[in-house]
Amino acid sequence: MSQDVVTHCPYCALQCGMTLRRTAERVEVLPRQFPTNRGGLCQKGWTAAELLDHPDRLTTPLLRDRPGGQLRPASWPEALDRVVAGIRRIQSAYGRDAVAVFGGGGLTNEKAYALGKFARVALGTRNIDYNGRFCMSSAAAAGMRAFGVDRGLPFPLADLSTADTLLLVGANVAETMPPLVRYLVEQRQRGGTLIVIDPRVTATARQATLHLQPTPGTDLAVANALLHIALAEGLVDKDYVAARTTGFDQVRRVTAGYWPARAERLSGVPVADLEAAARALGTAERAIILTARGAEQHAKGVDTVTAFVNLALALGLPGRPGSGYGCLTGQGNGQGGREHGQKADQLPGYRRIDDPAARAHVAGVWGVDPDALPGPGVSAYELLSALGTDGGPKGLLVFGSNPVVSAPRAGRIEGRLRDLDLLVVADFVRSETAEIADVVLPTAQWAEEDGTMTNLEGRVLRRRALGPPPPGVRTDLALLADLADRLDHVDGSAGQGRSRFPAAPEQVFAELRRASAGGAADYAGITWERIDAEDGVFWPCPDEDGPGMPRLFADGFPTPDGRARFVPVEHRPVAEEVCPDYPVYLTTGRVLTQYQSGAQTRRVEALRRVAPNAFLELHPDLAARLGVADGDEVRVTSRRGEMRAPARLTPTIRPDTVFAPFHWAGAARINSVTSDALDPVSRMPEFKVCAVRVEKAVASAGEGTA
Ligand code: SF4
Repeated sequence: MSQDVVTHCPYCALQCGMTLRRTAERVEVLPRQFPTNRGGLCQKGWTAAELLDHPDRLTTPLLRDRPGGQLRPASWPEALDRVVAGIRRIQSAYGRDAVAVFGGGGLTNEKAYALGKFARVALGTRNIDYNGRFCMSSAAAAGMRAFGVDRGLPFPLADLSTADTLLLVGANVAETMPPLVRYLVEQRQRGGTLIVIDPRVTATARQATLHLQPTPGTDLAVANALLHIALAEGLVDKDYVAARTTGFDQVRRVTAGYWPARAERLSGVPVADLEAAARALGTAERAIILTARGAEQHAKGVDTVTAFVNLALALGLPGRPGSGYGCLTGQGNGQGGREHGQKADQLPGYRRIDDPAARAHVAGVWGVDPDALPGPGVSAYELLSALGTDGGPKGLLVFGSNPVVSAPRAGRIEGRLRDLDLLVVADFVRSETAEIADVVLPTAQWAEEDGTMTNLEGRVLRRRALGPPPPGVRTDLALLADLADRLDHVDGSAGQGRSRFPAAPEQVFAELRRASAGGAADYAGITWERIDAEDGVFWPCPDEDGPGMPRLFADGFPTPDGRARFVPVEHRPVAEEVCPDYPVYLTTGRVLTQYQSGAQTRRVEALRRVAPNAFLELHPDLAARLGVADGDEVRVTSRRGEMRAPARLTPTIRPDTVFAPFHWAGAARINSVTSDALDPVSRMPEFKVCAVRVEKAVASAGEGTA
């Protein structure tokens, strides 16, 4: 007899609908009709169930008894005692902020919420942040700045297929979210124009009507030039700008400096292509602009996204039916994970932790004194790079993240993690970060617990458990509740030892709803029953009897005056320009069959067969200069470290740029090389461009380097 459960994929923010079927032999994945994926899945989704009974699966806690020693199996009480004793020892010696927490954009809403609460209430530390800071914080900051709210897509995904012109900036959806491609196909079949901005001829760019291929780090100049052309050719929606926005005059003055010939010099994009793109956008009845990591992962990521938001506002797109601006969120719960309190500056409901009214509201829900809540901490990279240093945290608890592989300048971060007095990792496999931990706690996988996720559209979804986790494994929520109890955070007023940290996900979601009520991301009216009945519910949804909001901005923006805000932004060079010692740009990204740090997908045999190892993509002209042939092992060196991988020659990349995927560890870890320059607003690292030298790994005398 088989058993079916209706759920969603464990990986990216598209959160494709799927059915899991347990048969006598195995768990099968079946695609499911859902409004976003409409029956489609990519290879990652199809094979997701392979990890449920994988031989690498952790089913017992692991402890390291001395530095340099081996991890050994331990009981849960022994492991939790070690964690609690370590936390107490560190906090009594160095203060509460000396223990930090690092979360992830793949955690359910309930876990992200519980983790933020655990840090602020049970640990009393200000030091919490998460890997979503590496992923979409620049678009989030730009959205807040312009619109007063950060929801990836302020319209349903289905709007993409009806756009007359669709502009994708730094988004390779054909590899990262394949089921989304059918919207692009439909859009072109209806006669629409698809414009892609990307330094590489990606699988997505190959489908474009028009591909702009700028030098890495120059998207902002391209966006300002598009607005310059729109102004010059009378394509700006003056009525919209006058009625619904503020600050346009300053932006007009700044973009006056981005005449097409100058933008071509800065970016390498021909004037004719800039003009064609501006006209296609400016004359379309329905136009949509989408940005993703390619625009964001820069030391000027917020300003780059802002330049495209300015363009969208000038053309009158946000709030116009079938039109708009949006950001394609990456991680599975990238959207919800940044709304409920695991960010350093944030409380649930997208509230600011330095706002007295927000503190009072959330403290009321948590049953604590508002003054007892810590203030804002520092961002992910700043937190990781402070670990183990004088005045920095001495202990770290990691949930749903693998920073040894995913952090920029990863060699330095790995060293910091190794320097800690206490590193605790909750995971279901021995990730590279778990391998260097003092305590590893085995936790449940996606199909072993209930919870909610918020997809890239702001649609709150249900994930459902197919069954309980295997013996010896706990859910993150149960683990946090147990740790909180051991740290003595028990609600005495209840008189029954009731933990302030419920372990049941539906109970946590009920508390999250109360905590988010009245915030920008208001979930108060969303119930699990409604999610089931309505194919997900879009936030904000303040009232159980009122609708969610699939489309935002039709009647105004959630800013004090109801208007969107233009912000003038200027192009500036990348943080690290090429030079004689490091003469090539490096850009990084993903491949279709791997996901993020690869801790999960590198263990799936079917995915490993397709993408077994890292590679360095380079243009044949560059390869010829270096004396590198296809398949040769090459070394990529930056000021921070080096990486080795086989060369993959392709004419689809600029001759001044090389590309490497970031899913691999060890010698193939490209984040050993990447830059840790941060955006001044979002604190997002500049993963997308740095200066490197490339050479054959075993170069004979006289062979060149570049
Ligand atoms: Fe999963 Fe994303 Fe692939 Fe859909 S596109 S199956 S959500 S990884």
